[in-house]
Amino acid sequence: MNAIQVKNLHKSYGDKAAVKGIHFSVKKNAFFALLGPNGAGKSTTIEILSTLLEKNQGDIAINGYTLGQDDAAIRQTLGVVFQYSVLDPSLTVLENLKLRAAFYHLNGEALEERLAFLDQLIHFSPFQDQRFQTLSGGQKRKADIARALLHNPEILILDEPTTGLDPKSRKEIWQLILQLKSISKMTVFLTTHYMEEVLDADHVIILHEGRIRAEDSAERLRIKYANDTLKIVPKNDLESQLKQANIPYQKHNTTLHLPIETSFQGIDLVQQFKDQIETFEIVKANMDDVFLNITGERLEAE
Ligand code: ADP
Repeated sequence: MNAIQVKNLHKSYGDKAAVKGIHFSVKKNAFFALLGPNGAGKSTTIEILSTLLEKNQGDIAINGYTLGQDDAAIRQTLGVVFQYSVLDPSLTVLENLKLRAAFYHLNGEALEERLAFLDQLIHFSPFQDQRFQTLSGGQKRKADIARALLHNPEILILDEPTTGLDPKSRKEIWQLILQLKSISKMTVFLTTHYMEEVLDADHVIILHEGRIRAEDSAERLRIKYANDTLKIVPKNDLESQLKQANIPYQKHNTTLHLPIETSFQGIDLVQQFKDQIETFEIVKANMDDVFLNITGERLEAE
């Protein structure tokens, strides 16, 4: 049984179609990433999975429960960290967590044990008596993650968990997510528009304008959709030799960029033209190139 199974999901806001018939499944214990720029339909998909927003069409099963029929059971099985916190800004972190725990009838010793366990992972105790509204962005996100994990969910869903954080906090939150993944059997489903974050995922879906444009492991997407590049600073007349040999290249100032399938092909080319090469490097394609090749657009910069 998959952790999440989505078939033919459609959602429109008025006449604006946000999600246009997507299918995907998330295996149990997987680390699954939904990657796309702003407006791709990521939050819409997450809000539907979390039972907060009604779909127009489609069949969704979460841990075998049918969305639309078994919503209470689905909420019990999910922990969700939304882009915008659902915690009360005027309460302290601990007050917020205790209030939320009450929703799950978690109290007394069981609650204390759970909080101690979560604190070992998330380290929120240094700021647990501070009002939520006075916390830094990274601390707020930690408190939100602790809140989402109170009831020991089987699936953790995070909507752009690092967006809006400074680089240090981003790194910290990212380490925390990786650690959660490694020590628990949780399925982690997250959305992001940061390319480097999907490199850690077992499975990546590229969502663009409400449609899935590609899906695979990060590494296979890279191999399939992006070439590595051999960058050469030439000497003598390398250009005319490349033209003669019908080898494609692009000129960037004083450097020639040759698309290559593999690093070995790069080495062969270097051998072949070594007398015409001042210096060279082989640059691996990254997920930005993958996104560009698939959608024709760049993911927006920070
Ligand atoms: P993402 O999370 O990938 O940025 P969203 O799911 O938030 O994308 O949005 C998908 C599309 O739906 C966008 O074009 C957005 O403008 C639109 N949209 C989202 N929420 C609403 C809403 N409440 N009303 C109208 N349009 C919306």
